Amino acid sequence: MIDAMTGPMIVFEDIEKTYTMGTEIIRALDGVSFSVEAGEFVSITGPSGSGKSTLMNVIGCLDTPNRGTYVLAGESVENLSRDQLAEVRNTRIGFVFQTFNLLPRLTAIENVEVPLVYAGVPRRERKRRAAELLERVGLADRGKHRPTELSGGQRQRVAIARALSLDPAVLLADEPTGALDTATGHEIMELFHALHRDGATIMLVTHEPDLAEQADRVIRVLDGRITEDRRCAHQEVLV
Ligand code: ADP
Repeated sequence: MIDAMTGPMIVFEDIEKTYTMGTEIIRALDGVSFSVEAGEFVSITGPSGSGKSTLMNVIGCLDTPNRGTYVLAGESVENLSRDQLAEVRNTRIGFVFQTFNLLPRLTAIENVEVPLVYAGVPRRERKRRAAELLERVGLADRGKHRPTELSGGQRQRVAIARALSLDPAVLLADEPTGALDTATGHEIMELFHALHRDGATIMLVTHEPDLAEQADRVIRVLDGRITEDRRCAHQEVLV
């Protein structure tokens, strides 16, 4: 899918999202424009209340903007109905959350299979793909374990495998190391780097500057606006 893509994976043009609290209008996103090419690793950062979550929700098709255009993998999504938006969200976005959000009664392999079940992939093919994905995240031997039998880092690996199961256009990670100790957090970041080297488009939402700097590019938001959009120093050395 990603290989076949030409043009940007994400295009935001003048996106605005407002919330009304009583008589007050809060501009959570106030005219945000940027584009992300296929295969980029971009972090979105900023202090609490700056608009990161709102931006992530719009990118992830969990919410729609009040104004502006959003093109995801060549498809305009800003005016889709709820059902259409859910379809795009479920098939084109791979979510990774801080708290993993695995289903506790299912084994690792069954958790990875969940999106494939909803997508109607036959059982054998599902098992094969889920096993392959677990191997890719370094958990080939943990498929039969339930989340409680896995460490935090292993749980996040399962969640990442699940996020990759439908070959999403974008891997959207929200503070993915926030619930992990430093060393384990590094391992998870290493996994993102490996997936990036393999061609994945990754958007990492984090308030931690050190993590944000590990991406190729950092987009900083403040008061619902982009205040900075730059390549990281380690990238400038490379190019
Ligand atoms: P961050 O993720 O960077 O902490 P948010 O996107 O959550 O920032 O919030 C941006 C602004 O929008 C904040 O002022 C926040 O209070 C406001 N906001 C976010 N969600 C809502 C909501 N559902 N209703 C009202 N205001 C909201």
